[in-house]
Amino acid sequence: MPAVDIAIDIGGTKTLVSVFGDSEQEPYSSEEFPTRPAEGIDSFFERLSDICLRMKGNRNINRWGLCTAGVVSPEKGNLIWSPNLGWKDVELFRRASSFLDTKGVVENDCNAAAFGEWTFRKDIESLIYVTVSTGIGMGIVARGKVLRGANNAAGEVGHTIVKPDGPTCTCGRRGCLQAISGGRGLENRAHDLLGIEISTKEIIDRAQLNEPLFKEMITEASETLGRFLCNLIDSLDPSVLVIGGSLGKNQYYFDRILKVIEENRYRIPGKKVKVELSSMKPNPNIIGILSLSRRTHKD
Ligand SMILES: [Zn+2]
Repeated sequence: MPAVDIAIDIGGTKTLVSVFGDSEQEPYSSEEFPTRPAEGIDSFFERLSDICLRMKGNRNINRWGLCTAGVVSPEKGNLIWSPNLGWKDVELFRRASSFLDTKGVVENDCNAAAFGEWTFRKDIESLIYVTVSTGIGMGIVARGKVLRGANNAAGEVGHTIVKPDGPTCTCGRRGCLQAISGGRGLENRAHDLLGIEISTKEIIDRAQLNEPLFKEMITEASETLGRFLCNLIDSLDPSVLVIGGSLGKNQYYFDRILKVIEENRYRIPGKKVKVELSSMKPNPNIIGILSLSRRTHKD
């Protein structure tokens, strides 16, 4: 019976598990289930274990990888802190290896995604991956190495302050990038201005219909993010900037971001940078964590 590789992506709302045949790049099965982090870590890992064991059937597990939002120490194998999940000091590696064997890796989800996107492209020097959905996060890969920072906290761009007197962020400070350009930030601002509950998708739809308030919100959000990404490109000079996440991949939003980058980036003779939408299936986090595990645990 051939062995399988398992990739796990724990998100604030949903967790995705994908099972891959040996050296396959496309999963032969994927399942999503609600994370429900408030029910506790024990409950989550029991449900995860049941699903992984059912999905692998009678096949052996060869390698596994697990990524999640938050500050992760791949060396120690733990999640230091995840405000999205409300979890602190979780021994991810020990818990997962209790039912998946020991050939595994754990990583921050944006770092994994950046590595997935880098692996997918041939012969590039470096890549930045920025995800824009409820919040905003980033991963950087340079010459095949994931840049994690001294405290495994590199890439927390969602909480960089871009407008000192801007809206209050979930972190308690004012004017963070994600409070202006992220999904939750947009929803909170619509609530503050109009007193209504409205989804990010509906805000964009209504901006496209030229409703002035929504159009203004999306213009400010996309211009702020576009200028921020210009600064990233100018600071780090990546070969490729990949944008992912449900909001980032919205064509209306993406086109506006792209326009701002094109109009504002610092032009150096001969300098080229590609700005692309993520197209990896089922998502770059899964492909990235799978690739990191395969690179770490070669047969
Ligand atoms: Zn913040």
